[in-house]
Amino acid sequence: MKTYSRFYADGTYLPCTGATPIPVVDPASEDKIAEVVPCSLADLDRAASSAQRALEIWSTSTPDERKQTLQRLAVALETRSEAFAEVLATEMGCPRWLSKLMQVSMPLKNLEFTVAGINQIQWTETVGNGVVERVPVGVIAAITPWNFPLHQIVAKVAGALAAGCTVVMKPSEVAPGAALLFMEAACEAGIPEGVVNLIWGGPEIGVGLVNHPAVDQISFTGSTAIGRRIMAAAADGLKRVTLELGGKSAAVLLPDADLEAALPVVARLSMANSGQACVSQSRLIAPRSLMSEIVERLAEILRGWPLGDPLDEATRLGPVATHAQFVRVNSMIQQASQQGACLRIGGSGRASGFSKGWYCAPTLFSDVTSHMELAQAEVFGPVLAIMPYDNEAEALALANATRYGLSGAVWSRDKERASSFARKMKTGQVVINGAAQNLATPFGGMGDSGFGRENGRFGIEECLTYRSLHGAA
Ligand code: NAD
Repeated sequence: MKTYSRFYADGTYLPCTGATPIPVVDPASEDKIAEVVPCSLADLDRAASSAQRALEIWSTSTPDERKQTLQRLAVALETRSEAFAEVLATEMGCPRWLSKLMQVSMPLKNLEFTVAGINQIQWTETVGNGVVERVPVGVIAAITPWNFPLHQIVAKVAGALAAGCTVVMKPSEVAPGAALLFMEAACEAGIPEGVVNLIWGGPEIGVGLVNHPAVDQISFTGSTAIGRRIMAAAADGLKRVTLELGGKSAAVLLPDADLEAALPVVARLSMANSGQACVSQSRLIAPRSLMSEIVERLAEILRGWPLGDPLDEATRLGPVATHAQFVRVNSMIQQASQQGACLRIGGSGRASGFSKGWYCAPTLFSDVTSHMELAQAEVFGPVLAIMPYDNEAEALALANATRYGLSGAVWSRDKERASSFARKMKTGQVVINGAAQNLATPFGGMGDSGFGRENGRFGIEECLTYRSLHGAA
């Protein structure tokens, strides 16, 4: 059995000295496949001090040196693509082929745009008699979730390193393997000692990291509830915070939408990764007059999605990642039925054909209204809520009727009409007619989805502040 028992600080792996190990469980077999030995507060202190010491040198490196380092990191990550896909499949249930396609290729693209972003930043500028410099914020705590374990790490660490900051990573204890592979790649890429550090553990060590005096900024991706706590804790140390939190994003089909093109994409963007994506389009807002056709076509698409072993190449949907997630998804499904939503396919319980594993069948509800919990709370499972509307104003009101604001989509044969609708959506990004997600643009939320931006130049800027030198011009 694998053991994640060595943290990384000062350019070396050291034994974790925390208390009770945390099991890592394969969601398909329900077997314990590894364990995480958490760091103690003394280990955390070693990692944070390491990052603080390394800052002296890394913060004075040139943008070009940082660019070359990140390019080497991209190569080292790419050579590990198979290993990443394997560990993501076994630790969190994302089908291996999909892991390669989505969970591994996306961070590599992200890194490419961050490298390009280094050249897009105006590192110094003259203002009257002064010189204004963009300078790194300092030590960044990167706290990440289990659903896109590699992508979240890369989005944070690449932006931080490009800015000249150093990092202490605290990955999710649920799916730690990607973080260890990332650390190995960082070593191979020759990232200088202390610039990237890795600690293991759950919420307790996360709290310790947030409160550590060496940390200048907390970059957190995870649930809204924990994001709130982190922001409150950061207030004491007046630390900067960026929060990438949950979502309840809506795909809106305007009356002239091309259903043939839209519905396969709607199915994919609501169900991929078993619905465990912050940007999951878990609400579909559709014209009432087209409702029965839409439901029938979506049901047919999803019936063609095989559920199965994440290591099997034929599998389209794996299990959800944890037992807690399985319980939550089931309870949300039961509650939706009780509140009057109409179950069209799927439903609660273990998906048929499985005797073990946290398999949830793709589930469609129609006749969902805004007052139902299913329209408001993040399920983080393969459950799509379809909400009918009678006119465009109502469609917009429904789209905006949640406290979240992370993502969304609009479909219309008229691109101007779709763009105009998109501009009225209270959300950080909107996909128009199924366009590819552009990783060079800023990614982040509004409202309960948090604030701060990642990706490309925008992710670097998040880790920079200004210094003005009066009389230096
Ligand atoms: P989570 O909030 O439970 O945990 C996230 C991380 O925070 C983990 O590493 C965890 O150990 C740590 N943590 C927990 N309590 C902490 C505390 N009090 N102080 C410091 N650290 C603490 O989230 P999760 O279950 O791992 O991930 C799922 C959530 O992440 C979903 O809500 C999803 O929408 C969100 N998410 C958001 C984005 C985004 O970019 N907006 C991306 C992916 C996931």
